[in-house]
Amino acid sequence: MAKYTPMMEQYLQVKAQVPDAFLFFRLGDFYEMFFEDAIRASQELEITLTGRDAGGDERVPMCGVPYHSAEGYVQRLIEKGYKVAICEQVEDPSAAKGVVRREIVRIVTPGTVMEGKAVADRRNNFIAALTEREGEIGLAVCDITTGELYAARTQDWERLPDELNVFEPSELLGEAGLLERVKAACGPLLAGAVVTERRNGNREAVAEQFSEAELEGLPESAIDAVALLLDYLRETQKRTLGHLTRIRRYDPRQSLMMDPFTRRNLELTETVRDRSKKGSLLWLLDRTATAMGARMLRRWLDKPLRDVQAIEERLEAVEKLVGGLILRDELSAALRGMYDLERLVGRIAYGSANGRDLVALRATLEQVPALKALCLESGSETLARLGEALDECAEAREWIAAAIVDEPPVSVREGGLIRVGYHEHLDRLRAASTDGKRWIAELEQREREATGIRSLKIGFNKVFGYYIEVTRANLSAVPEGRYERKQTLANGERYVTPELKEREALILEAEDKMVGLEYELFVELRDRLAGMIPRFQALAEAVAQVDALLSMAQVSAANRYVRPKVTDGFELRIEDGRHPVVEAVLEGGSFIANDTDMNASDSSVLLITGPNMAGKSTYMRQVAMICVMAQIGCFVPARRAEIPIIDRIFTRIGAADDLVGGQSTFMVEMKDIQAMTTKATKHSLVIIDELGRGTSTSEGMAIAQAVIEFLHDRIGCKTLVSTHYHELAHLEGQLPRLRNHSMAVRESGDQVTFLRKFVRGAASSSYGIYCARIAGLPSAIIERANELLAIRETGAARAEAAAASGLIADGRSPDGREQEASSGGAAAAEKEAEPASPVAPPDVSASPE
Ligand code: ADP
Repeated sequence: MAKYTPMMEQYLQVKAQVPDAFLFFRLGDFYEMFFEDAIRASQELEITLTGRDAGGDERVPMCGVPYHSAEGYVQRLIEKGYKVAICEQVEDPSAAKGVVRREIVRIVTPGTVMEGKAVADRRNNFIAALTEREGEIGLAVCDITTGELYAARTQDWERLPDELNVFEPSELLGEAGLLERVKAACGPLLAGAVVTERRNGNREAVAEQFSEAELEGLPESAIDAVALLLDYLRETQKRTLGHLTRIRRYDPRQSLMMDPFTRRNLELTETVRDRSKKGSLLWLLDRTATAMGARMLRRWLDKPLRDVQAIEERLEAVEKLVGGLILRDELSAALRGMYDLERLVGRIAYGSANGRDLVALRATLEQVPALKALCLESGSETLARLGEALDECAEAREWIAAAIVDEPPVSVREGGLIRVGYHEHLDRLRAASTDGKRWIAELEQREREATGIRSLKIGFNKVFGYYIEVTRANLSAVPEGRYERKQTLANGERYVTPELKEREALILEAEDKMVGLEYELFVELRDRLAGMIPRFQALAEAVAQVDALLSMAQVSAANRYVRPKVTDGFELRIEDGRHPVVEAVLEGGSFIANDTDMNASDSSVLLITGPNMAGKSTYMRQVAMICVMAQIGCFVPARRAEIPIIDRIFTRIGAADDLVGGQSTFMVEMKDIQAMTTKATKHSLVIIDELGRGTSTSEGMAIAQAVIEFLHDRIGCKTLVSTHYHELAHLEGQLPRLRNHSMAVRESGDQVTFLRKFVRGAASSSYGIYCARIAGLPSAIIERANELLAIRETGAARAEAAAASGLIADGRSPDGREQEASSGGAAAAEKEAEPASPVAPPDVSASPE
């Protein structure tokens, strides 16, 4: 005995298929939710919870949303990390025997949304699948809105967080045990991703979806991951995924690697402070005209190259573009006329593209010949190669131009989208409808004459169809018997006549057929276009590259960047380097440029001292950012730059990242250092800001020195270290490849002026006490502080002497107040450097001690 009504039994059956999703169950004009779903949805969506008699003892909790506004509700649930299954009536209710058949037509999940806010134009929305086979991890990542699919494998668990961080998937698939371990490895980095448990995909489906060539040589573990992903996409999307045609395999080791913290610290795609794009390097570099170009540029920044040849190819194009203002303008004009081809293609594959999408596709294709000609004639080899790859897809352009009107409506089911002359039968139906309407217009005239009612008019509405309307004042003139009254209005009456109804039937029939035929013709065209998807995708890829190159060139030209010389060597040399973002936000060219010179013989480690706010961390980031920019093939903010290929950048900067919750700053720092010491190679770039804080001074200093020695002796990587421990300056005498530097500061009277000039030699150590004096602390305190400092430093020096064989004095006088410390360089440079504007004394409380 069924407990509920047949409809509710049907609901429960369907719901059992999707226990982890909200079920939007179509009932007439509403999507209804029941039971637990209804209770939770009413809370999440703030809609009224009601009940429904469903044959059981109690009313069943229910809530619903109108079908025509369901999209917004679905989006809200997705944004909150839920999944939503859409269940439609799949037969005509009037034809149904018993309960109307209903089926889930699509499951929307955070990783598979096609529309709405989650699908930002200029960003990808990725879903990732992970599998494991004999200790090797397979990774497949897909954006179903564009059809991009990436596959890779790795044996290195430690690399996984880096990889996942690059894609920032909004949904993650995999076996429970594996996902547990991935979550443990990635920590809160994956907090934004919905996790869906799935095991073992169907590998045969992979062979069906992709060509043999596409799969050839793909590692088994990566195929596993693709299979898992594809299964899930098929299960949730319930349609063909014609735009998944290519698998872009990649080796995570081919690009410049950066862990998630480094990406954040360098603010490549978002700022540390509020995680917004504004203020990041991407924000500065992104002047792309198209959304696909914007996504391409972001991917380049996510994965800088390591191959000199590939970098040179991009630089070659950028150089041509920087030198060609007119070329830039013309390319930009062509690109601006283009729409998001990748997502248009996604919608074509999905069968959700409408008339406007096809018109957008046509407009995009119309720009291709001009773009192609510009690339071919640019004089750049790289652009010419991309020009070759720009497939005009002329037939698609012609098909759409012939079939679709210039301004079609949003709906594809209400007619009005197919051009006259495209289809003979459609034109005939149209003629029938137009003739009918002309007949009606003539009838109006005839009836006015017959009745003498000048204000008589014929109107149309959806309920009554065509009618004759007569105002109250003229009712006496209505020919009774010939007119049949249909509706009474406040100030008149509406009538019909048999001949009017007869014509109406003909018109409506023709229109009905017209609408049906238009839809058929539209779908036929859309399907024909779907057959060209791989060509559109190749086109989109080439367009995106041109756009990304042009964007880098625009920014390079506007900011006087130069082409870096990229080498496979070790030496890094930057003349008058600038921090691209700080420079851009500082007013009127007030950024002070600085040199960098690092080589294997005497300067692989730069130890930078100087007070807070002197510009140390800006300088260190600047070096890293210039390297990143060079490796994506962009010009760099400098007068001259020679950049060696960097394999990996490590940063240990500040305590701003609270990502690893619950751990002390010091512990986080030590873990970062641990990663550095095990993974860095000679070709890595290491940046450590404020090494050794978070513990006691002597301990912090001891650790700092030991770390520096390790990096210097054992790894030999390029290292930039800033520190408050001026005592570490003596290391210069001990470590042959370490050099002391500082950010020059001028003191005069009660003001400290930061010169922002990077100079040889360590800084004086007395700023803390100096500031205390300026702040007006009693002289007794100042004197006592100087005394204590002196005692400490002599003590430290003695301990050092005991630990190391050769002690090199750091040239500081015992009272610690000597202005220029050991460095003649600072004083010398000060004379040359233009003083920057005077600033308030550094914040004494911000000192790590
Ligand atoms: P530190 O790391 O030494 O405490 P920062 O690098 O944070 O100092 O720099 C402090 C401020 O000084 C920055 O906010 C920046 O605006 C400014 N600044 C840094 N370097 C320069 C420079 N080369 N030219 C002009 N302003 C700079």
